[in-house]
Amino acid sequence: MPLKIMPKNKPSSKFIILDRDGTIIEDRGYIHKIKDMKFLPGAVRGLKKLQNAGFRFIIITNQAGLARGIYNHAQFNIFNQELIKRLGTKNIKIEKTYYCPHHPEFTRSCRCRKPKKGMVLQAAKEFGFNISKCVYIGDKDSDMELGKNCKGITVLIENSQYPNRIQPDYKAKNLYHAFKVLAKTRVI
Ligand SMILES: [Mg+2]
Ligand SMILES: [Zn+2]
Repeated sequence: MPLKIMPKNKPSSKFIILDRDGTIIEDRGYIHKIKDMKFLPGAVRGLKKLQNAGFRFIIITNQAGLARGIYNHAQFNIFNQELIKRLGTKNIKIEKTYYCPHHPEFTRSCRCRKPKKGMVLQAAKEFGFNISKCVYIGDKDSDMELGKNCKGITVLIENSQYPNRIQPDYKAKNLYHAFKVLAKTRVI
């Protein structure tokens, strides 16, 4: 009987779709200057715990500041790479960042702006995961709607200045609290 060859180092299929602004770092509104980059309380600790629990991270972020001309793609990339670097120094790996540069009032409408699934589908294709098996963490209704559109598990970070009308599966104060909530529910 031939041996079944198992792929080596088969990557974990557990992915978290992470919002960025208001979830990992402070949302100061169209944030793009490195001097304004500030981790939210519990964010680094929470990501570490979630990573240790076997999750891999994808950032998916709406960046309407690009559509509005507040900053450009180069500035976005410099800022985001700095964030990835700072997380890297804490041994936290972000697999990839996907961003939507559109806003229906300023550009064409698109398939990527959350809560549309475009960016998640793209990531799922590149990383080979099932979008309904992901955990979706963010601070806005559009993040929760995205998670529901993908039939995944939703966790709302309740630190936000934005109203919440969509009921998530779980609520947490920050990413560390999200880890604790998920650990209790055996999602982890
Ligand atoms: Mg946000
Ligand atoms: Zn878009």
